[in-house]
This record gives sequence, structure tokens and C-alpha cells, in this order.
Amino acid sequence: RVPEGDEVSKAQEAVSGKVAPTIFSRIIDRSIPADILYEDQQCLVFRDVAPQAPVHLLVIPKKPIPRISQAEEQDKQLLGHLLLVATQTAKAEGLGDGYRLVINDGKLGAQSVYHLHLHILGGRQLGWPPG
Ligand code: IMP
Repeated sequence: RVPEGDEVSKAQEAVSGKVAPTIFSRIIDRSIPADILYEDQQCLVFRDVAPQAPVHLLVIPKKPIPRISQAEEQDKQLLGHLLLVATQTAKAEGLGDGYRLVINDGKLGAQSVYHLHLHILGGRQLGWPPG
């Protein structure tokens, strides 16, 4: 069963036809600066402002899906595209010896920006498990 709060916020989104804009929407529309490495019709890749590894990039869809747990069947192609753009960008950044892709979801997943994003982390030996 979906918690009531989620149902209410989903209903409000359905009425307004949009989700709350985040700082990433402002990066997409260029109203705040970012170090952008790649862009196409569906997504954008830019450097994380607080890097946790020598290479720390974010891949975001232009469609403002708030979190991975809210992605829908109709987003299947887009989600696959984000993964392939991530692998291509990692290769272009010289991460041939390996890297990590991370998606944080919600409060317990330590998500802080509610616009779906895929972290690319690399350029050093990463530990496991993550904190
Ligand atoms: P989350 O914790 O998975 O939601 O990750 C959000 C990420 O966005 C963090 O790694 C932040 O450092 C990064 N971030 C927040 N604001 C900006 C920005 O304005 N430019 C680039 N990265 C940002």
C-alpha cells in the first residue's frame, strides 16, 4: 500500500502537471552555472559541486522525475539512456579501470536533491560497502 502522504503529493503533482523545481532544473535551463560535459535532448552531465572522488559527475534527465522510485514504465527508454550516457561519459573521462554508478533514493537513501540523478564516481579505489 502506498503511504497516504505519497498519494496526496502525487495527486497534487497530477493536478499541477509538474513537480517542484530543484536546483537541477536551474542547471538545465542555464539560470545557474555548472561545469557541463555532455548534453542531448534527454539528459545532461555535469560535475558535482562537492566531489567525493577525483571524478564525480551527475547524469540527470531533463524530465524532472523526483526520484528513481517514482520512475514509471513510460520512462524505461530514458532510464536505459541515462545508464548508457553514464558508461560513455566514464569512458571519455578515462575511467577504464572502473568506477561506480550510484542512485540515492529518498530519506534513508540519503537523497538530497529531488530530481533524479545518477552519480558517476571514479579516479580512486572505492570502498565497499558504502556508508
Ligand atoms: P544526492 O545526495 O544523491 O541527492 O546528491 C546530490 C548531489 O548534488 C550532491 O553530491 C551534491 O554535491 C550535488 N549538488 C548539489 N547542488 C549542486 C549544484 O548546484 N551543482 C552541482 N552539484 C550539486
